[in-house]
Formats: sequence, structure tokens, C-alpha cells
Amino acid sequence: MSAMRTLDASAVREAVERMVVEANCKAEPALTDAFTRCQAREEQKLSRSVLEKLTLNARLAAERMVPMCQDTGMAVFRVRLGQEVHITGGSLERAIQQGMARGYEEGYLRKSVVDDPLFSRENTRDNAPAIIYYELTEGDKLDITFAPKGFGSENMSAIAMLKPADGVEGVLDFVVDTVRRAGPNPCPPMVVGVGIGGTFDKCAQLAKFALTRPLGSRHSDGRYAALESELLERINALNIGPAGLGGHTTALAVHVETFPTHIAGLPVAVNICCHAYRHSHVVL
Ligand code: SF4
Repeated sequence: MSAMRTLDASAVREAVERMVVEANCKAEPALTDAFTRCQAREEQKLSRSVLEKLTLNARLAAERMVPMCQDTGMAVFRVRLGQEVHITGGSLERAIQQGMARGYEEGYLRKSVVDDPLFSRENTRDNAPAIIYYELTEGDKLDITFAPKGFGSENMSAIAMLKPADGVEGVLDFVVDTVRRAGPNPCPPMVVGVGIGGTFDKCAQLAKFALTRPLGSRHSDGRYAALESELLERINALNIGPAGLGGHTTALAVHVETFPTHIAGLPVAVNICCHAYRHSHVVL
């Protein structure tokens, strides 16, 4: 039997503290590259100007280590814990929650979480709690992905329990219609996360995780990669455009994630991310 690898909770806390600041301030180069590429194909001066300002915004945020957007979001983590890792010196959950809260404090990131969703709605003042999805994996590594989720775009998300007979056209129509109804609200150009399959809850999670993929990465199955392209084309024909002012760049990418489902169902979820496409990843 192989020995367990020990990992101190303080190392997790420190890594999380760094990664929440980094995600909010430093865009992946693919994002600014996409702004520049899309700028070249816009005919309207206004659309080009919005993309130019978004590029400048992302560059200044990274240089000055200030957030790309004032809405630094609700903290979402995907944690993959190797079954041969033993966390010492405290609980993994507490380490992540504390690291997140410290990062939001030290990085001057806005605290956006309320304690009770319906009645008191008082700000918790440290952005806690983070939403953490745990998965047990093989091996001796702890793999953490972080994505802050702003609610201008989160509020535009939707899910449909389609019938299997609705097929590809049903999926295309639902996703494109969700983006059409969202209009300018999710701060376009957006990145569209699509979950297909699983159950009601699993499908929503797939759509969320789709938004942690490198920008513009493709589904490994060619049929779904083609679906991503078709969706992007239809979405960009909606003429919502950068900042909702019209143009060809309504979305920068569509990421589809899939999972087996029940014989009687075809769940589809759409989780939208704004132009502040933010995430960070660490392996400990
Ligand atoms: S949707 Fe995105 S860009 Fe718009 S305010 Fe929220 S976090 Fe900022």
C-alpha cells in the first residue's frame, strides 16, 4: 500500500489567497487576444471602441493588480482531492474558506455575499461562504480551480429539461434563445457555458464548469466541438454585440460539457459569463 502524502492546511489557505486575487486581476492572454481578433472584424466604430477599451481595461488590471470589474463575484471552487492526500493542521473546507476571505480582504476585492437569500440579506463582509464542489480522484495531488462569478451574467442563466426527441435543434434553439433574452445584461462579449446531460443539478454544474475551461478550448468529441462552433455562429448573428451596442461579437466562445443521462431526458443548462472571463488553477 502506498503511503499517504501529507499537505498542511496552511499551504492550501495561502494558495487560495493568492489564486482569488490573481483570477480577479489577471486575465489569461487568450482573452485579450480574442478582444483584438474580434475588434478587427467589427465594422461599427462603436463596437471596435468597446473592444479596445476592454483590452485596455484587462491590461491595466493586470499591470496594477486591480480587479477587472467591480463585481468580484461569488467565489466558486472546483476541488479535486487525490485519495492519497491527507490534509493536516486543520480542515480543507476551512482552509479554502479562510484563504478566499483573506484574498478578498487583502486584494481589495468587493464582498458581494449576503447571509440569507430572502429575508435579512445582510452582507457577510468577507465574501464567505464560497461555493465548493469536491471530487475525489486517484493520486496524491490537490487540484483547485477557482472562478469568481459576477451576477450580471449569472442572473441570465437558464435550464431546460428537453425531451430526447427535441434533439440537436432543440438544444440549439434553447441556448440561442437564452442568450437572445439575456441581451446586454451579461456585459457582452460573453462566454457561454453549456451543460448537456446528467440530472437537473448535474447539468447546471456542467455548465458552470464549462466556464473554467481555457477560453476557446474545444470539446474532445468532434460532434460536440461542431455544436460549439454552430452555437457561436448563431449567437454572433444575434447582433447584441460588445456592451450590447450591436456588432458581430456577442460571444467570444461557447464551451459545451456533457455527461450521460436518463433514457427519458435531455437536460440542457446555460451558464453565461461576461467579458470578465476569470479563473485560476493550482495543483498542490
Ligand atoms: S456581469 Fe461581469 S462585467 Fe458585468 S458587472 Fe458583473 S462581473 Fe462585471
